[in-house]
Amino acid sequence: MPERLQKILSQAGIASRRAAEKLILDGRVAVNGKIITELGAKVDWPRDRVTVDGKPIAAEAPVYILLNKPKGVITSLKDPRGRKTVIDLLKDVPERVYPVGRLDYNTEGLLLLTNDGDLTHALTHPSHEIKKTYVSKIAGLPNEEQLDRLRAGIKLSDGMTSPAAVRLLDFDPVKQVAVVEITIHEGRNRQVRRMFEAIGHPVKSLKRTKYAFLTLTGLKRGEYRRLTPDEVASLK
Ligand code: URA
Repeated sequence: MPERLQKILSQAGIASRRAAEKLILDGRVAVNGKIITELGAKVDWPRDRVTVDGKPIAAEAPVYILLNKPKGVITSLKDPRGRKTVIDLLKDVPERVYPVGRLDYNTEGLLLLTNDGDLTHALTHPSHEIKKTYVSKIAGLPNEEQLDRLRAGIKLSDGMTSPAAVRLLDFDPVKQVAVVEITIHEGRNRQVRRMFEAIGHPVKSLKRTKYAFLTLTGLKRGEYRRLTPDEVASLK
């Protein structure tokens, strides 16, 4: 069955759907020796020979990794500034995986990585509303009215946020630091940090503790494991 070229590239684990589109637009993809730069092209792979930068693509078994990302590591495949990336942490994963969404350089916690472009697409699409839980240490003690603003949805520069679940877990009166758990199902850039900034209590540290039903149980900072087949099936 012919399929769109970008879908074939993402299913073969070459890149996310969006990154695959860029590869095509950049003229790096050829079908039967001819460079294709339009996104609609349908290809009958593996009967047709598909190459990226001249190298034939091969079907890879899907891999699903759950990483406990430390702070000070960048969520991308390569960093032009030479900083450590999440890929550098994966020592025995020969497949080319890429992150599902993103955690900031200074955010730690649960990050999925996979070569399954379709699952990445589904999980990062806003209509899926995957719940993500973060534990934030914030400056100062917020009052209930401020937390209610986060719960109801708060105005950020890119629009209102959806309702969030928010719980005050702890407060250290000496350090003047509160610990707040927040669950959101969007994935905007620096969203949690911006939400706390909007109520005047900036984030001092941030950790993602849960993604859908997945948690960090058993994983120290920098450690990772493969998802079980049951976990993969439940995510789909
Ligand atoms: N929200 C943020 O502000 N940063 C992250 O890394 C994730 C969610």
